[in-house]
Order: sequence, then C-alpha cells, then structure tokens
Amino acid sequence: MTELKACPFCGKQTATVKHSRNWGYFVSCQCTAVGPGRATAQAAKDAWNKRTEPAQAVLPL
Ligand SMILES: [Zn+2]
Repeated sequence: MTELKACPFCGKQTATVKHSRNWGYFVSCQCTAVGPGRATAQAAKDAWNKRTEPAQAVLPL
C-alpha cells in the first residue's frame, strides 16, 4: 500500500481514498481538498502524492 503524503493545503495527514460513481477513486482531505479522479485507488494515491511535492516551499522575503 502506498502511503499518502500530507495534504498540500492544510499540511495534515487526514487524506483518505474515496470512490464516487462519477469520479472513480480520488483522495479527499478533511479540509475539502481533493485529488484527481482515477480508475483505481492506487492510481488516485499516486496522483495525490505527485502533486504534493512543492507544498512546503515558501519563498523567503
Ligand atoms: Zn487538507
């Protein structure tokens, strides 16, 4: 099983995989952030993890 990375919006690890008839599998966080819909739960996790990489990058002033 692939671990889900922390949410890029709230920074918490409360995201879980859900399924809907329209979207297929997708990752959803308690802060209402959602990942892209995929055909399988594994693909949904991969898509979520891929887009969370730059989350902690904050430009110093
Ligand atoms: Zn979140």
